[in-house]
Amino acid sequence: MTATVIDGKAFAAKVRGQVADHVARLKEAHGITPGLAVVLVGEDPASQVYVRSKGKMTVEVGMKSVEHKLDADTSEEDLLAVVKSLNEDPEIHGILVQLPLPGHLNEDLVINSIDPAKDVDGFHISNVGLLGTGQKSMVPCTPLGCLMMLRDHHGSLSGLNAVVIGRSNIVGKPMAQLLLNDSCTVTIAHSRTKDIQDVVRGADVVVAAVGRPEMVTGEWIKPGATVIDVGINRIDAPEKGEGKTRLVGDCHYDSCAEVAGAITPVPGGVGPMTIACLLANTVTACCRANGLAEPEGLTA
Ligand code: NDP
Repeated sequence: MTATVIDGKAFAAKVRGQVADHVARLKEAHGITPGLAVVLVGEDPASQVYVRSKGKMTVEVGMKSVEHKLDADTSEEDLLAVVKSLNEDPEIHGILVQLPLPGHLNEDLVINSIDPAKDVDGFHISNVGLLGTGQKSMVPCTPLGCLMMLRDHHGSLSGLNAVVIGRSNIVGKPMAQLLLNDSCTVTIAHSRTKDIQDVVRGADVVVAAVGRPEMVTGEWIKPGATVIDVGINRIDAPEKGEGKTRLVGDCHYDSCAEVAGAITPVPGGVGPMTIACLLANTVTACCRANGLAEPEGLTA
């Protein structure tokens, strides 16, 4: 079998198009422009790239983009004051504090100081609790993107056996919760899971969020299963020349694609969906704040 490739890049472009349409309607019918604020502390190069590309795409879909760049030695008090001012700003509907924060700052404290209604990353403890109890919440962007692709591919996920590999708060746990809310039978595997290959081989849907290059091979995959590869790992690529690198997922693409029914590539799979879902969450937050109907298909 050769798997269907789930094209995250094309899917993300479609989601951004839906967001842009909704933003245009909000402006025209209600005079409202959704606003997203991103707070970056320090000069981590990867974070700077993410923040730049988030800002660019926010503007492209017609929303207002605000960036707060703070020095690496910013005090917790000053950071909390910035978050407070954004919480109180009626033109800002989504707030994202780029993680990781420098070591002297308490991430939990900072994230939980964001107004839960503006917490477009879905990391605030209130949103975690709402998601865990199956209530309307802001949903973390990467798992939301995975869910959208799975729903699009399968239609209903009800009754499917799903294995999520990884139990982080930002990907693994919310992913498992979303699949459970969609009536999958969910197993969460992690570094202590025994006979992990056998566990994964029972899955109709595999979501790999581990951070280990090409760990999951075709032998782990049940024929016809859907494989969602969240991992982004940079490895040496001597075949491209000395000192060159390339990106790979947590799944060994070629061997998994031989067995799976459908698979997301890396790059071009889950990655582009994450920012698209951030924009979707911002327009959702804006609609909720104004008591307006939420865009269909852009929330869990
Ligand atoms: P974390 O490091 O926070 O979590 C990794 C998880 O994998 C942990 O639960 C860990 O288990 C588990 N794990 C580690 N080694 C093994 C193993 N040998 N067997 C089984 N499980 C193992 O990572 P994140 O969740 O933040 O990210 C995971 C991957 O997804 C990374 O590659 C990251 O770059 C990528 N990512 C991609 C995004 C995107 O937009 N596409 C967004 C976010 C992340 P334990 O808890 O027992 O230690």
